[in-house]
Amino acid sequence: MNTLEYNEVELTSDCTCTNEDGTPTDDCFDCWQDSVWLFKDMMHTWRETVGVKWDTVKITGTQMNWDRVSGEAIVPFEKVLDALKIRGDFTLRFKQEGTILTATRSSHDEYCATFYFTLIEDED
Ligand SMILES: [Zn+2]
Repeated sequence: MNTLEYNEVELTSDCTCTNEDGTPTDDCFDCWQDSVWLFKDMMHTWRETVGVKWDTVKITGTQMNWDRVSGEAIVPFEKVLDALKIRGDFTLRFKQEGTILTATRSSHDEYCATFYFTLIEDED
């Protein structure tokens, strides 16, 4: 349990599919869904690393939107990705380092919005 878990997952709203030889393709082979699976895997690894079974996550965001606002949101564990999706094109990069989970989001209006995640105990 002393090894530091390290995982990165990138999700892009644009299609990132390529042909088998690496050239761009006009067909989408469900690349978004593929990255969502990787993301969900990482979320569960993160929660195991933290060592809790809580289903609630506090998201703290900074440098969001064109006016670089900060904010907080409390969302169910399964809804973290939904909370970070925005309209239009964007790229989300999640990074897990041990018990620390962070993400950055780049989009038309944002250079690098940054998010921090904290598991919190469920309310009964
Ligand atoms: Zn695709």
